[in-house]
Amino acid sequence: MINYDEHRFPFILTFVTLNKVLFKFILACLKPEKIKIYCDFDGTITLNDVWVEMGNVFITDKSAWNNVIYRFESGEIGARECFSAECSLIKNFNIEKFNEIIDRQEIDPYFKEFYSYCNENHIKLIILSEGLDYYIKRVLSNHSLNIPFYSNKLLISDDGKSISLDFPYSDSDCIRCGVSKRNILMNQTADDEISVFIGDGFSDTCAVHYADIVFAKGALASYCWKNNITYFDYRNFLDVLKKIHKLLNLRTIKQRQTARINRRNVYMRG
Ligand SMILES: [Mg+2]
Repeated sequence: MINYDEHRFPFILTFVTLNKVLFKFILACLKPEKIKIYCDFDGTITLNDVWVEMGNVFITDKSAWNNVIYRFESGEIGARECFSAECSLIKNFNIEKFNEIIDRQEIDPYFKEFYSYCNENHIKLIILSEGLDYYIKRVLSNHSLNIPFYSNKLLISDDGKSISLDFPYSDSDCIRCGVSKRNILMNQTADDEISVFIGDGFSDTCAVHYADIVFAKGALASYCWKNNITYFDYRNFLDVLKKIHKLLNLRTIKQRQTARINRRNVYMRG
């Protein structure tokens, strides 16, 4: 006589195992790691600092320029005052010449690959820049990149020979930054999202205190090291892509406790 229970047992076991696998798969699909990537522009996406390239061409009084930079780096003046002083040193601005400077800017050789990876994986990528909207837009267009960005705004005089800046994303309580990368990062990241920041320089030093995952090179890496901020060293965007892909696959990506506390302290202060 056939014992049906004996035959049914392995079937039930297989059915339960399959359901468990399916359940885990559905759960993974429903709860993907929600990360948002914030990326600096000059020296991070572009190989050179476009603002500095611009100054090299249009500022003739180099010692006055060096003095402005020194006063900014020593904390004597803030970013907005520094930029305004630099703009006043620019004589005989010429938009055609400026376009030529912009059009010869190269970007990180792996940035396009990184951009495609973000798009394919529905990862939101946002540029936070202390540079100017005019050249960011043009560089992105030159390389067929469609990325939202926050930056300072270039204003050209009626005769086209001088420039000034507008700071639509500054923080009135902070003189250090033209664009408050910290405020944008905090406002754009939901409570259950993980913020990733990629940068290279002085204008990124505030934001890294509030980001969950930091990729740093150059002066920013030194700053993170000195200030005990956990960061991943990178040379180019292939390094960043590989690390993010690995973290997402291992599902070990999570909010950084210190960054969470720093964010909470800002909210508490209002
Ligand atoms: Mg930079």
